[in-house]
Amino acid sequence: MKRPKFLCSDFFIDIILPNRCPVCSRVIAWDKLFCDECIPEEKDIVEAPLLSCDKVTALYPYEGNARNAILFLKDNRHKRLAEHYAYRLSILLAEDNVDLVTCVPMNFYKRMMRGYDQADVIAKSLAKCLNKPYDHSIMRHSFSLKAQHSRNAEQRRSAAGTTYSLSKKAVGLNGKTVLLCDDVITTGSTVDACAKLLKQLGAERVIAAAVCRTQ
Ligand SMILES: [Zn+2]
Repeated sequence: MKRPKFLCSDFFIDIILPNRCPVCSRVIAWDKLFCDECIPEEKDIVEAPLLSCDKVTALYPYEGNARNAILFLKDNRHKRLAEHYAYRLSILLAEDNVDLVTCVPMNFYKRMMRGYDQADVIAKSLAKCLNKPYDHSIMRHSFSLKAQHSRNAEQRRSAAGTTYSLSKKAVGLNGKTVLLCDDVITTGSTVDACAKLLKQLGAERVIAAAVCRTQ
C-alpha cells in the first residue's frame, strides 16, 4: 500500500497559492491537510450489507468538520486531501481482496459544469493505493435536472434504480470483488443501484466505500 506524499512541487505552489484548511480557510503549512482545530475525528464505519452491496465502509459520519471538508472537495481541486482519504480507506479495505475499483458515475453535464468529479478522484487514488486496476467506464448516469441531493429518501430510492445503467464499454466481471467508491453515502440507494448493475455483469462481491456516511 503506497502512502500518498506531499511533493516538492507542493512546496513551490504554496509560495504563490498558500495552502488553506478546507474547513475554516485559515492558511496552514504547505504539508498539512487541516489546521489543528479542524482535523475531523476519525471514526471508521463498517456497516451491514445493503440489498446488493455486500459491505459498506466509510471514514467519517457526514457531520461537523468531515462534512465541511467534503463540501470543500466538491468545489475545489484539493488533490492531497482526496489522496489522504483514499489512503485511509485502503487501510480499511486491505483484507478484502478487491479485484477492481470503480466509482458511482456523475451526471455528464454536472461534471462538465463543475470540471471535477470527487468520487472519480478518490476512487482513482484508492485504486493506486491498493495497486488494483481502475475502471470508471462501467456505468453511466442518465441526465436529470433534479439532483439526487434535492430528493427526499423515498424519492431517492425510487429514482436510483432508473438513474444508472451499464455503459456500452462494460465488460464481464465474473467472480470479481468490485470496490464501488463514492464521496458520500446517504440513504445507500445510489450505491445499491450501482451494485445491482455490477452484479448483473457477474461481480461476486460489491463493497461500497465512501469518505462520509449519513448516520
Ligand atoms: Zn481549520
